[in-house]
Amino acid sequence: MALLVVGSVAFDTVETPFGQAQEVLGGSATYFSTSASYFTDVNLVAVVGDDFPEKHINFLKMRNINLDGLERTGGKTFRWQGKYGYDLNEAQTLNTELNVFEHFKPKLPEHYKGADVVFLANIDPDLQREVLKQVNSPKIVAADTMNFWIESKRDSLIETLKNVNILLINDGEARQLTGEANLVKAARKIISYGPSTLLIKRGEYGVTMFNEHGIFIAPAYPLEDVFDPTGAGDTFAGGFMGYLANTMDFTDETLRRAAVMGSVMASYNVEDFSLNKIRDLDYKEIETRFREFKALSHFEDI
Ligand code: AMP
Repeated sequence: MALLVVGSVAFDTVETPFGQAQEVLGGSATYFSTSASYFTDVNLVAVVGDDFPEKHINFLKMRNINLDGLERTGGKTFRWQGKYGYDLNEAQTLNTELNVFEHFKPKLPEHYKGADVVFLANIDPDLQREVLKQVNSPKIVAADTMNFWIESKRDSLIETLKNVNILLINDGEARQLTGEANLVKAARKIISYGPSTLLIKRGEYGVTMFNEHGIFIAPAYPLEDVFDPTGAGDTFAGGFMGYLANTMDFTDETLRRAAVMGSVMASYNVEDFSLNKIRDLDYKEIETRFREFKALSHFEDI
């Protein structure tokens, strides 16, 4: 089943203790689509400026991502600049330039409107709702956001959440959104805003999923070399939602498997800058790591 995503397509400038990358391909929708493309067809909605090179378009096409909803307009592409210290769980945003996103009015191509599964990646919550309004009757709507939007557009974000079934955010964002230091309390509050399932991403400590069935915890894959965590959250979301769109099963068992698949994809992404590591993975590698996850947290009752 095709998966519809709206989010940013960007140039990122990133510094980590292990190196730096200047104006490389990034953006929430880019990471998400690339990751999801291993599991399902993806229809992308975003905007880029006239400085966006053909080689990036060709890469997205090579991953079979449908770009009919990618508008190209005069002006500069969205840019984000961030820095990480030795604690790679916390990104420090140095600069955000919305550029062409400032006046973007998304218009869905006709063949996108019947989407059953929708992902509102990290972008202005006004745009998230603008896209959602144009989808006929989605079965599942999931979303992500970040501190930038929680600070600058909180009311709009709360409005978006009323129509969201699954929210994926990190621990700092969950605390910021609710004013609760305790994540279990924060989760209960977020569920009262609309989403029935919440996934809190905790970087190297894994992911915790909350819903009416209880709490599920997926570890992060223990890697020796983490180079750049940029896009880990979006790559997680791509694996998670791609798996759900592929199975079209939203039972708790499948949600748990999807959370592990998201963790597998995110673990590859952080091994290199930009999308370098997830450009062209072999599906067998993905399956092998998925099975390793089972061994990581399996134990026998006495
Ligand atoms: P993640 O590390 O998964 O949270 O996502 C990082 C990606 O989000 C980067 O590639 C950025 O281009 C993109 N990004 C950063 N800030 C924003 C923002 N305010 N709105 C949309 N996308 C953003």
